[in-house]
Order: sequence, then structure tokens, then C-alpha cells
Amino acid sequence: MIQFRGVGLTYPGPPPVTALKPCDLLVSRGEYVSVMGPSGSGKSTFLNIAGLLDGPTAGRYLLDGIDTGTLKDADRTALRGRRIGFVFQSFHLLPHRSALENVLLAMVYNGTPRKQRTASAREALHRVGLAHRVDALPTRLSGGERQRVAIARALVAHPSLLLCDEPTGNLDSATAESILRLLDELHADGMTIVVITHDPGVARRGQRTLMIRDGVLSDSSADDDAGQE
Ligand code: ADP
Ligand code: MG
Repeated sequence: MIQFRGVGLTYPGPPPVTALKPCDLLVSRGEYVSVMGPSGSGKSTFLNIAGLLDGPTAGRYLLDGIDTGTLKDADRTALRGRRIGFVFQSFHLLPHRSALENVLLAMVYNGTPRKQRTASAREALHRVGLAHRVDALPTRLSGGERQRVAIARALVAHPSLLLCDEPTGNLDSATAESILRLLDELHADGMTIVVITHDPGVARRGQRTLMIRDGVLSDSSADDDAGQE
């Protein structure tokens, strides 16, 4: 699903900042991978590259076998819209739009026929357990409900890859647990999931954990194996 071959990113500066040192990575379809690392270590940079929001300055990124570096901007945007859903720590909902409208707006540019959008948005909100709150404004929703709306918005285009940047960072532990359970369900349904987190308890929900330190990405499970030798 995700294949990095020597992928790295250096911000030009000045001074230039190498946020991600060239690395290789394979994330298979249906995997659930966690990414940990200190603040400023390059986690969001990694996620932005994986999500086709930023292009790497080194190496090649193949998404589902497609060499993304060879795509025109419009084709890369279309690929992102079809295959990738994003979930962020601070939800990024429009405050004056209802839950339904927030999810609907995600479909304006992804080619979903207008007539089909409302049904798709309702279905996505139903999927995250918010069928009864479709008309609520985000300001009237709890943090956990807001994150569910954001997840519904991420799911509405039926992506194959869900990228989450600290998805439980703004939630209390009980609410976080309910969001993590939702991610577990999506994973069980076949979704490929990448979750960035500071929290080892969140990271353990994934099948393996990648570490980033000072822009160096490593597979911590591989480190563990090496340590046992
Ligand atoms: P994390 O998400 O792990 O906190 P980031 O990926 O956001 O880390 O940032 C990694 C490094 O890249 C940091 O040193 C940060 O200051 C730097 N950085 C991030 N974005 C930019 C940018 N647009 N221009 C220059 N440097 C940046
Ligand atoms: Mg970050």
C-alpha cells in the first residue's frame, strides 16, 4: 500500500531543515501501524508525505504501486481524494456547519454525484455512531463526537488508507478509548491505518510501531528483535 524508497524531505530554509532523512518503508494493505517519536522529530512530515500533502525532496513514494512523484498535481490531488482519509488532533471541523454539512463538504471535490452525497454522508455518520446527531453543530458536540464527525468525513469517500495525526490527543481517556475502538473496527473491516501518537497505550493498538527520532524512521519491532540477539 505504502512503499517508500529512500524517501526524505528537506525544507529549503534557510537554513535547510531535514525533517525526514531518506528511509525505506513498506506498509501492507490492511495493516495498522503506529508512529511514535518526540515532538519535532518528523512525525507530521512523515504523515504529510504519506498523505500526498507534501512531496518528498528525495526518493520515490509508491502508493498502491503508483509512483506518486510522476503524477501531475491535479492527478496527485485526485489520488489523495479517492484513497486517503485524514484525521487530526484538533478535528478541523467548520464550526457553523452541522455534522452532516461538514461531512457533505468533503465530497464537493471528490466527484461524488450531488444526488448521492447526502445519503453517503448519513451513512458515514451512521458508521461512526452519530446517526442521531447529524444536524448538530460542532459547538454542541462533545470532543469525542467531534472526532467521530471528523472520522465520518475521512471515511465518506471510502478511502483505503486512513492517516491519523494524534487522533486522541485532545480527548479524555474514556473518550479516547471509544475512538480507538472505532479504529479497531475499521481495521477489522479491512482499512489500512497509520496512527501518530505520543501515547504508548495508543501505539500498542497497532500491529507494529515505527519510531521517528531526529528525522530517522525506524521499525521499533525490528530494534526489539536485534536487542534479543
Ligand atoms: P512532529 O510532528 O514530530 O512534531 P514535524 O514533522 O512537524 O514534527 O517537524 C519536523 C521538523 O521539521 C521540525 O524540526 C520542524 O521545525 C521542521 N519543520 C516542519 N515544517 C516545516 C516547514 N514548513 N519549514 C521548515 N521546517 C519545518
Ligand atoms: Mg506533529
